[in-house]
Amino acid sequence: MSIATIDPTNGQVLKTFDEMTDQQLEAALARAADGFAQLRSTGFAERARWMTAAADLLDAERDAVARMMTTEMGKTYASAKAEVSKCAAACRYYAAHAEGFLADEPADAAAVGATRAYGRYQPMGPVLAVMPWNFPLWQVLRFAAPALMAGNVGLLKHASNVPQTALYLDELFRRAGFPVGAFQTLLIGSAKIDQVLADPRVRAATLTGSEGAGRSIGASAGRYLKKTVLELGGSDPFVVMPSADIERAAEVATVARCQNNGQSCIAAKRFIVHTDVYDEFADAFVTRMAALTVGDPMEDGTDIGPLATERGRAEVAEQVRDAADKGASVLCGGRRPDRAGWWYPPTVVADLTPEMRMYAEEVFGPVAGLYRVSSYEEAITLANGTNYGLGSNAWTRDPAEQERFVTDLAAGLVFINGMTTSYPELPFGGVRNSGYGRELSAQGIREFCDLKAVWVGEGSAGAGAGAGSHSE
Ligand code: NAP
Repeated sequence: MSIATIDPTNGQVLKTFDEMTDQQLEAALARAADGFAQLRSTGFAERARWMTAAADLLDAERDAVARMMTTEMGKTYASAKAEVSKCAAACRYYAAHAEGFLADEPADAAAVGATRAYGRYQPMGPVLAVMPWNFPLWQVLRFAAPALMAGNVGLLKHASNVPQTALYLDELFRRAGFPVGAFQTLLIGSAKIDQVLADPRVRAATLTGSEGAGRSIGASAGRYLKKTVLELGGSDPFVVMPSADIERAAEVATVARCQNNGQSCIAAKRFIVHTDVYDEFADAFVTRMAALTVGDPMEDGTDIGPLATERGRAEVAEQVRDAADKGASVLCGGRRPDRAGWWYPPTVVADLTPEMRMYAEEVFGPVAGLYRVSSYEEAITLANGTNYGLGSNAWTRDPAEQERFVTDLAAGLVFINGMTTSYPELPFGGVRNSGYGRELSAQGIREFCDLKAVWVGEGSAGAGAGAGSHSE
């Protein structure tokens, strides 16, 4: 795939980029190794100063960065600005908390016959981050902020359709003060990933992307025994039970499905509604979906811009066509407009059956599947009836039922009476084919650290066991 910015509102190629040569790639890997040697000898306070400077740059440059993202992948300018601000906040969060998250973990010294015993977190080294285009800044920052604060260095292989955002990120951390080589963008295609993972200087990899990419990177990483974190796709359920606030559920459902033009891994995709409230919810939901404004993503008041790629739009259109051909009811939308660019309208499809693709596959666009169930058990069976397990939503005001959903939903995230989203304070990740490992929170920064067991016997002088902070 070529590396290029293509305006999704009209399909025009705006800028193309050459892939790195093998010599350039080698030089980048050498810089990463040197950068790691430098970064691991710095302290938390120094790295926190640089990370805070990166946040300041993001805040100061918010509007220009947001315009660039909108141009490259079609998200609304308003949501792009919010994304930049969220990234700055995550940088500040890890600047403030990294040292505490990675403090030595005291162990029971007497039980192991030591005078001191503890666990120490240490950075692993250069980490390859393979990232998607849908939140082109946030997906990268939620890896980079904790990774750099831990003392790791980052090598970004970004999606091929967001090269300008990738190059902005290449400069951001260096401009903020981090050593040369601490964070670099590799302008390479996915065919080169195996070669990078094979390199002994690269210690680990993280991917946010599709299930297929996850299998490919997981296989390479297995071959070279490199640790991975995989954040893959999802087909999140949004369950509405009789005690729910139906109007509120329909309002949130619309945003949950259509945020980011429907291209979010944690978008609610399957709306599973109890028969007692099905008609009421369906009316309210379809009315709201049909009323959304599709248009120029730079305009105030636009709810949905174009999909990011021609291939992505074709896939969504094909999934809806397949369902309609097999007897599903299209309650709104469902027809791609006859104009240049990768547009697709907000769409609700009901009467889905297992032989339709939409029933089991992820739909990466503003298309909702609507399902009727007649009991809690049926709702859970359907909700858990895909191979995915990323986010999940349940709407009920019954406390006992809320507890059951928390326990029974097969997912990495459960949101009750609210929309699934990511916060620096909460662990983020999936189960089953949605991947493994966690980003964000204390868990996220520890994923790319080795935990070293330390045992100290008689005869050593010095401070108390694992009490202090350390430089990394
Ligand atoms: P994608 O095609 O998998 O691309 C993601 C990244 O992986 C890109 O950098 C891409 O490079 C690379 N890639 C693609 N195929 C690869 C392969 N066979 N081997 C190695 N690398 C490969 O995904 P996408 O279409 O950009 O993004 C949408 C998917 O990402 C959806 O499934 C969505 O749910 C998932 N996602 C998950 C999360 C999460 O946190 N769990 C968040 C956002 C998105 P090229 O661009 O060069 O092909």
